[in-house]
Amino acid sequence: IDALRALLGDAHVLLPGEHDLAAYERDWRKRYAGRALAVLRPADTAQVAGIVKLARAHRVPLVPQGGNTGLVGGGVPDASGTQLLLSLQRLNRVRQMDPSNLTMTVEAGCVLQSAQQAAHAAGLLFPLSLAAEGSCTIGGNLATNAGGTQVLRYGNARELCLGLEVVTADGEIWDGLSGLRKDNTGYDLRDLFIGSEGTLGVITAATLKLHPQPRARMTALAACDSLRHAVTLLDLTRSRCGAALTGFEVMNALSLALVAKHFPQLAQPLGPRPWTVLLELSDSEGEGHARAQFESLLEQALERGVIDDAAVAESLAQSQAMWHLRESIPLAQSEEGLNIKHDISLPVSRIPDFVERCDALLAERFPGSRLVDFGHLGDGNLHYNVQAPEGTPPADFLRERETAVNAVVYDQVIAHGGSISAEHGIGQLKRDELAQRKSPVAMQLMRQIKQALDPDGLLNPGRVV
Ligand code: FAD
Repeated sequence: IDALRALLGDAHVLLPGEHDLAAYERDWRKRYAGRALAVLRPADTAQVAGIVKLARAHRVPLVPQGGNTGLVGGGVPDASGTQLLLSLQRLNRVRQMDPSNLTMTVEAGCVLQSAQQAAHAAGLLFPLSLAAEGSCTIGGNLATNAGGTQVLRYGNARELCLGLEVVTADGEIWDGLSGLRKDNTGYDLRDLFIGSEGTLGVITAATLKLHPQPRARMTALAACDSLRHAVTLLDLTRSRCGAALTGFEVMNALSLALVAKHFPQLAQPLGPRPWTVLLELSDSEGEGHARAQFESLLEQALERGVIDDAAVAESLAQSQAMWHLRESIPLAQSEEGLNIKHDISLPVSRIPDFVERCDALLAERFPGSRLVDFGHLGDGNLHYNVQAPEGTPPADFLRERETAVNAVVYDQVIAHGGSISAEHGIGQLKRDELAQRKSPVAMQLMRQIKQALDPDGLLNPGRVV
């Protein structure tokens, strides 16, 4: 602790007893709470490297943390009180903007929304977008390979990153901040660190890919009586609008009912429907063209019986209100109480069969359990969450049923060719599930990589592998 104080200054080594560390020690869902030996707040990459060297010399584990919005318990310390929490929040500068190369280099603790705003101020678009964007950080986004609402057009965090700066488990600094779109010089170290959830190295900065800003963005809601029809609407929209389609989200009736219950001030233009789809077009020709595209698409969908109602946003404020509705679902669920979350991906074509089968099995085995289904249908990612029956305390339901519910859901995910983690990662929540569900060969390779890069197991121990 003395050495850390000498490195960072007393004000940036926060000790339990002297400071309230709850905001660092408890996760967003309030599911995991640990105790940190100390919370460290370095200001730059050199200080991060110094911390890692000290941690290594004293054999003390480190847990990197950005905005602490992760949903799998990956960024909070365990209960032992022996782990250092390494907060990246003070590394928050935009280091470089290169409009001609369509890139910007930002530090790991830069909040996603600030990175979006920096790109916007340069007349460009950084398209990564998710409901936690006001708090999550670029380092956390890359460490979890975050997805969000624009993946079907622009890809996930991995596809938006060209280069990284990383402090290795030895405390060395790897400067891989290249803004190159082509670079075939051996193994792809960048892709190894992306999605590694703080277990292989500490990301300190990244060079990110930017895109031209679309001239207009427009949103619509459409009501479908089944998920099968929602998939047909996706096919139709893709064939008519091509790359202009930048968002395609689905919400089942219960997910919007929870929003109505906990946020009654939010308008729901279509009223209760089995499935509501949120579509977004980003148009390079302007607002008039986007509106015309939407109107003819939705008219055709109505005529074919694919949807039975629709509303196109009349203004930017209405577009934002529609997104707000969608993004309020996790918050409404959180208000309703702890639930059993499944962030899964499947081939889009198999999603309706999966949901039908899984809904039926859960209704039979766990009568009264409530299914809150929503997510990024456009890229095959569903948040298939199971809420306790009305009247059952959520914590009891979670404790008594989680393992059995997970077995039903994940068996069906695998049977339908899917993945048990689409975008939130593994953390502690799915670590044991991963070991059971991933091929033994893949697990062995992952353990060998961990062993090679962090032989002492000091970076985020007990997470992922
Ligand atoms: P943290 O929670 O602080 O950390 C997450 C993991 O990354 C931990 O394992 C941590 O150790 C590691 N880590 C953090 N920073 C670094 C670093 N610099 N170097 C190495 N490792 C690091 N996720 C999606 O993908 N899509 C969504 O649509 C989405 N919606 C969300 C909505 C809400 C309301 C909330 C609360 C969360 C949502 N998330 C979503 C999950 C979460 O926001 C993302 O996982 C996000 O990328 C985490 O960023 P963070 O900075 O908060 O990371």
